[in-house]
Amino acid sequence: MKKLEEYVRSIPDFPEPGIIFRDITTILQDPDGLHLAIQSMQDKLKDTEFDVVVGTESRGFIFGVPIAYNLHKAFVPVRKKGKLPCETVSMEYDLEYGSAVIEMHKDSIKPGQKVVLVDDLVATGGTIEAAIKLVEELGGEVVKVVFLMELAGLKGRERLKGYEVESVLCYD
Ligand code: 5GP
Repeated sequence: MKKLEEYVRSIPDFPEPGIIFRDITTILQDPDGLHLAIQSMQDKLKDTEFDVVVGTESRGFIFGVPIAYNLHKAFVPVRKKGKLPCETVSMEYDLEYGSAVIEMHKDSIKPGQKVVLVDDLVATGGTIEAAIKLVEELGGEVVKVVFLMELAGLKGRERLKGYEVESVLCYD
């Protein structure tokens, strides 16, 4: 059986020169790759008690929903601005160029619920940090953050100091 890292396709100079993009579609399009990815992320939660998986748009949905389903937990999406139909809380965060806004429904997390955040990849940690702030604003307790991949050189883990962070694959 192939290792998970063998399913990841690395694309140089995407979306900009100098960036190596870690493409997850080659994991998803293989049944063994998909199974291995979900299982490996889920294994990081073996000893964690929690109520809700929160996934960030859009690749956090791909991994977050099957994990929540398998473990019989709720799933809550963090969406880009303007997509959620009911009352929301929102958070702006910096991108390399400019900024972005993400939102959650106000009633999606109940105060005191234990939350696991899931995304495909952590780079600078800016996206997940903003999502953590939203969860905490709603009264949720972040008990773990799980990524499939971590770009260690961008020091997302330092930005997330104080939180329990797990990643399945680590790149320099
Ligand atoms: P950060 O906010 O940590 O700098 O960037 C992480 C976000 O950007 C994640 O939501 C992730 O999906 C996306 N991202 C950044 N670089 C890559 C990459 O090389 N591969 C994939 N699959 N996603 C990336």
